[in-house]
Amino acid sequence: MGRTRVVIWFRNDLRLLDNACVARAATLASESSDVEVVPVYVFDETYFKPSKRGLARFGAGRGKFTLECVGDLKTSLRALGSDLLVRCGKSRDVIAELTLTGANDRTIILTQTEVTSEETEMDVAVERATRERARGGAASATMERHWGSTLYHIDDVPFDVTSGLSDLPDVFTPFRNKVESKCKVRDVIPAPTANELGHVPASVEGFEWMPKPSDLPFASSEIAMDCDKRIKDCLDERSVLDFKGGESNALARVKYYLWESDRLATYFETRNGMLGGDYSTKLAPWLALGCVSPRHVVSEIRRYESERVENKSTYWVIFELIWRDFFKFFALKHGNKIFHLDGTAGRRASWKRDEKILKAWKTGTTGYPLIDANMRELAATGFMSNRGRQNVASWLALDAGIDWRHGADWFEHHLLDYDTASNWGNWCAAAGMTGGRINRFNIAKQTKDYDPAGEYIKTWVKELAEVPAAYIADPNQAPRELRDRIGLNYPNKLALPRRDFTEMGSPPGPRRGGGGGGRGRGRPGGSTPNRGTKARVASVYDTVYG
Ligand SMILES: Cc1cc2nc3c(=O)[nH]c(=O)nc-3n(C[C@H](O)[C@H](O)[C@H](O)COP(=O)(O)OP(=O)(O)OC[C@H]3O[C@@H](n4cnc5c(N)ncnc54)[C@H](O)[C@@H]3O)c2cc1C
Repeated sequence: MGRTRVVIWFRNDLRLLDNACVARAATLASESSDVEVVPVYVFDETYFKPSKRGLARFGAGRGKFTLECVGDLKTSLRALGSDLLVRCGKSRDVIAELTLTGANDRTIILTQTEVTSEETEMDVAVERATRERARGGAASATMERHWGSTLYHIDDVPFDVTSGLSDLPDVFTPFRNKVESKCKVRDVIPAPTANELGHVPASVEGFEWMPKPSDLPFASSEIAMDCDKRIKDCLDERSVLDFKGGESNALARVKYYLWESDRLATYFETRNGMLGGDYSTKLAPWLALGCVSPRHVVSEIRRYESERVENKSTYWVIFELIWRDFFKFFALKHGNKIFHLDGTAGRRASWKRDEKILKAWKTGTTGYPLIDANMRELAATGFMSNRGRQNVASWLALDAGIDWRHGADWFEHHLLDYDTASNWGNWCAAAGMTGGRINRFNIAKQTKDYDPAGEYIKTWVKELAEVPAAYIADPNQAPRELRDRIGLNYPNKLALPRRDFTEMGSPPGPRRGGGGGGRGRGRPGGSTPNRGTKARVASVYDTVYG
């Protein structure tokens, strides 16, 4: 009889609690003392390559956060008597190297099911490479994919998984109504206890190694240096939170937001804020890297509801987590269309390239204070409120008419909570490319409603510190005498094109190309053909949100 090695290939599931792969490894290890468990994480160079539009996809802030997540997982695994092997390179090569090759040996690779093409293509490459290596020595290698990133398990959702979720609604409300009425959230899977994963085998070397920023395959040495700097000292004092990666910090944040501060009980009223740590949960970065599962968050909310209070706020965090699920399943259904210029609806619109506008948007110098403040916050801290994201996305895509994928790329580079399905799904929707109505935000009115005194704007746009609230949405409209007195030095609003939204139609028949994907080419979830109809075009209208 040969040996059995179980490789836990951690990706966006950097936790021990409620992790189906970890639980499965513990079960396999309990079946025989000959089973050895090797937990591994790879900083895969694929994610660090520039996007199709030339922007480095993995930024310094996310580099720091991910290093912290991986370090925290390593510490937790060591506390159990196991460890985490950390590598940089290609997952395919690293995991193939871990494959046993002796006669009758078997290697079982456990990994979380992913929904987008780059990740699923990576699975296939790992599977192929490990099989080939095992076969060379008359051994065997298999991969098990375990679902784990959503609140509702894919096997429980009331949609046709076998047809690639072809009956999944393309808008949120019917999706939510169906999942809430038809399925239950499964129980949280307990974390393993000491020694359940056994000790890592002595034959595998390199467990003592943890990469530094300069070891990560960043697109440039400047990004690596910036990452190093962020680790060593410089938390911007205006950051909403000192985000530190890792499961222990994620669980501490859940505990704080629910039990220690009771902020959960007022979430509905505060969620549109932009300043401070507590207007929203700030769980997104940890959820994106899988340091905490949405199921754990919801089970804690349910406990809070039974022990403290149940109200609209406690429900609303669950509501938001269902949005997160929606975008995961939406990505699975539509495959690479979420990366295409004409989106999942196949809508044609006149997008343009304008380097001046794009640069102003990225650097927070558009002359629109709410946009500039949010964009500066993102670049400095890796975070932006949901209110801010809606506004800056609407401005870039719908007001400026810039190819919205440049915006999605920029977010991918900067956001600590970057999640492929949430980011590209939200951008595609914000650009009006998922079908249905188009929600264009009135930036001046949004400023008045959500930052009437300009407190948030002044935090990030220092040159507006002296501008009275009455002129905060458009400082250059202040009387000349006032502008001179305060020495206002802020750009005029960029001139933007007038856009005709009725032109956004969907072409009849299947997409004929020209949209140009943002990432890889695979189609993991399949897709439905575009049905460009007059009714659909007629349903497109410009809602200016107040
Ligand atoms: C253009 C654009 C891009 C976005 N990109 C991302 C992204 O890459 N990663 C990401 O996690 N969120 C993304 N969002 C969604 C949302 O803005 C963030 O999840 C939220 O602001 C994070 O703050 P929070 O954790 O305090 O959220 P809370 O308000 O506390 O909400 C709780 C959780 O619900 C989930 N959630 C809330 N709103 C959404 C939403 N619209 N879509 C998906 N999940 C949601 C998040 O996991 C969040 O942590 C994007 C939104 C827009 C408009």
